Amino acid sequence: MNSRAVSFLILAGSLALAPLGAAAQAADPQATWTALSQASFDPAKVASVKDVTLQRDLARLILRSGTVGFAQPVGGRVLQAAFRGSGSLSLAPRLPLEIQQLKFHTGAEEFQVEFTEAVFIFSDSTYDEVAAQAQFAAGDAASLGKLFADRNQKLTYYGLNFEPRLLRVLLSRQPEEYAFFHAELKTDKYGWLWFDLDATRLEEVTLAQFDESRYAFNTWCSFPAGGRTPQEVWQKPDVKYDMVTQSYNLDITVEKDTTLRGVARVTFLPREPVRVLELALDANLRVEQVADAAGAALAFFQPRDPKGRFTQFGNYLTVALAAEAPAGQPFELTFRYAGKHVVTSEGAGVFFASSYGWYPTLGDDFIFRYPFDLTLRVPKDYDAVAVGNKTDERKEGDHKLTRWVTDVPVAVAGFAFGRYYIREQELPNGAKVQVYVNRNPDKFIRDLQLAAEQQGAQLVEDPSGQGRGTGETYGRSSDPRLAALESLNPARFGGTMLTEVSNSLKVFEAYFGPYPYKKLAVSNIPLDYGYGQGWPGLLYVSSLTFIDSTQRHVLFGGRLSAREQVNITDRFRAHETSHQWWGHVVGWKSYHDQWLSEGFAEFSGLLYAQYRRGTQEFLSGLRGGREELLNKDREGAVYDDLGPIYAGVRLSSGKHPGGYSTLVYTKGGWVLHMIRMMMFDPRAPDPEGRFKAMMQDFTKTFYNQPASTEDFKHVVEKYMTPEMQMAGGGKMDWFFKQWVYGTGIPHYTLSYALEPQAQGVRLRGSIKQSRVPPGFAMLVPIYATMGTQVTRLGWIKVTGAETPFDVNLPMAIDKITLNEWEDVLATVEYK
Ligand SMILES: [Zn+2]
Repeated sequence: MNSRAVSFLILAGSLALAPLGAAAQAADPQATWTALSQASFDPAKVASVKDVTLQRDLARLILRSGTVGFAQPVGGRVLQAAFRGSGSLSLAPRLPLEIQQLKFHTGAEEFQVEFTEAVFIFSDSTYDEVAAQAQFAAGDAASLGKLFADRNQKLTYYGLNFEPRLLRVLLSRQPEEYAFFHAELKTDKYGWLWFDLDATRLEEVTLAQFDESRYAFNTWCSFPAGGRTPQEVWQKPDVKYDMVTQSYNLDITVEKDTTLRGVARVTFLPREPVRVLELALDANLRVEQVADAAGAALAFFQPRDPKGRFTQFGNYLTVALAAEAPAGQPFELTFRYAGKHVVTSEGAGVFFASSYGWYPTLGDDFIFRYPFDLTLRVPKDYDAVAVGNKTDERKEGDHKLTRWVTDVPVAVAGFAFGRYYIREQELPNGAKVQVYVNRNPDKFIRDLQLAAEQQGAQLVEDPSGQGRGTGETYGRSSDPRLAALESLNPARFGGTMLTEVSNSLKVFEAYFGPYPYKKLAVSNIPLDYGYGQGWPGLLYVSSLTFIDSTQRHVLFGGRLSAREQVNITDRFRAHETSHQWWGHVVGWKSYHDQWLSEGFAEFSGLLYAQYRRGTQEFLSGLRGGREELLNKDREGAVYDDLGPIYAGVRLSSGKHPGGYSTLVYTKGGWVLHMIRMMMFDPRAPDPEGRFKAMMQDFTKTFYNQPASTEDFKHVVEKYMTPEMQMAGGGKMDWFFKQWVYGTGIPHYTLSYALEPQAQGVRLRGSIKQSRVPPGFAMLVPIYATMGTQVTRLGWIKVTGAETPFDVNLPMAIDKITLNEWEDVLATVEYK
């Protein structure tokens, strides 16, 4: 039994609780919020403590000596405390991922830290537990109150404050469903640390560091309470939602000055009685009203207005219903809001609309799918495109109105608008590819153009000596930078865009199954390199992905980082296109499984490059990725050592911001490629037949649903070859354990001798394995060169320090090699 279950028992046994719950239901949300945020500390609830222990799942907090004080109750409950003195936190996680992460961040597999100040926010039995171990007396509540207020002010500044969470507890009749414990601990070694135990999360236990100077949240540990595994709990990712969204009806108006006004009618289905909704909405959009179906205005809460600042945290919108909504009965709320900064102007008739946060959601999870009905009004000179099928278009005053309705429920919606050239092409299956390309260059392209023109004028000596004008003309025609930019000229660019996107869809349909929507609208993104975005049936891609490598070199020379180089290639564009399958058709169940979206998209980008530009381009993409994984980041950490793919977004921390993209994208893509190569059969009519069948089975089985790593593993197991049975039992655990749940990139050293025989040759030698744990095992392909022909001879199961082999082959062979197709993510050396 875990400690939270114990604390539930204590709560349930408290006689005072039932009447308090009823009183809480009647409480005024605004007054409750104010009381919570002003937390007044009780002079009668101060205690000197000696070894007060709070056990929270695997973590133990000890208040060794010092003073603890509690705030006055709100809604009949004591919810806040502060401590000053000497205390310690210890945590010894049991899951391999958590041990690895803790060791990476702190240098030790078991965590122990001393703290001198602490703030506690909780709805569990903390108060009762401390009261049982200490004696309250009159004391200096003011100083502890100040300590609490200072921390709470910080939290509020970042929009990370706990009032939304506490309100949910206080206004619920089943507060134990929302039980939580939050501790903030001031340590010498790591600054302020967070420890959380939260019943509303599937991974209830978290140890984290909020790195204020880098504006980053470093999660050191996150795991399910009670000894369960993440693989287990995330199989049903929606069980902790007390309500789900049923449908969105959005009415969005964008004014000439880019102000966005929204009226969102959202239907929710409570699964349990619900009083408080914790929603997300970009805090740059200020809510004017939230009304229920009867038109009554409801209490709502938002963080402070960030006034255009990007806010990764602090985009909450908390709404308190007038009365508890009963389970199983859908209800509708209407949200009215407006704000700038969500849409920005990027040139004449060129705009950028933020991907997320422009309508209220229950979180940006890709677990659920919803029908959308979107009415969009933009200034009347512009065209608009959005997720769904266009069912209406007309002028309305100063606006152009369009309406977009989805025929397949989708996870997210987006839109774009501007002064466009529009082109369209039909695919063989009847789906339409449409391009919406900006008529005018955006600021970024314009700046490049200006730079090239200015430099061009200086660079070129006028050979005729007839003055600057001639020189400019001469420069314009000869400067290759201008020629490169010319291909981004919308008139020429639209056609390329249409062809390229249609081609990538054809490749992906052959591998992954039918394109799922009736249209794919593509718009060029008016921003710099390094960004792209895909919604179901709608893509934002950078114009720069349509120029070729020569043009890229001409425009940027060596000024781009490796990642930026990749981000402006057709490979990156194909990555975005493939998200129609990876992310939209098949979602992901948890942050652990996001490689099924990003890694698969990265692989898809390479796959398209292979068709478009040839095998060498494909292989060099893989090699570049391997180099990236073996490189060190700016802190001197090898990327592959940051953690396993399964750590997901946690791989990026303040000090190591590149972890997520390098591992989840690059290594994730490699993992799928390795499965592809193990299934590759050069003798089959379609050597890729098995891999394609597996991928199509995966998209079909999880059509419009989220999938987990374990779900994908089961699909791989259905299609595994006899050679892939490395551990027997029809299981692929050996592979996933090493490549997704673990770290390590093997290094192989091949030594061999060829002895001519009466017929053919005897091949003897060994493969030495290093840089991975001894138990690491992999199927390594061995290739023979005969003249100009390179043939895969078969597989060797490589494991341990050295794997010898000795075979007779019926033909003459010139040379033996490993890994010709980069079949395995490894480095190879020949001795
Ligand atoms: Zn992506």
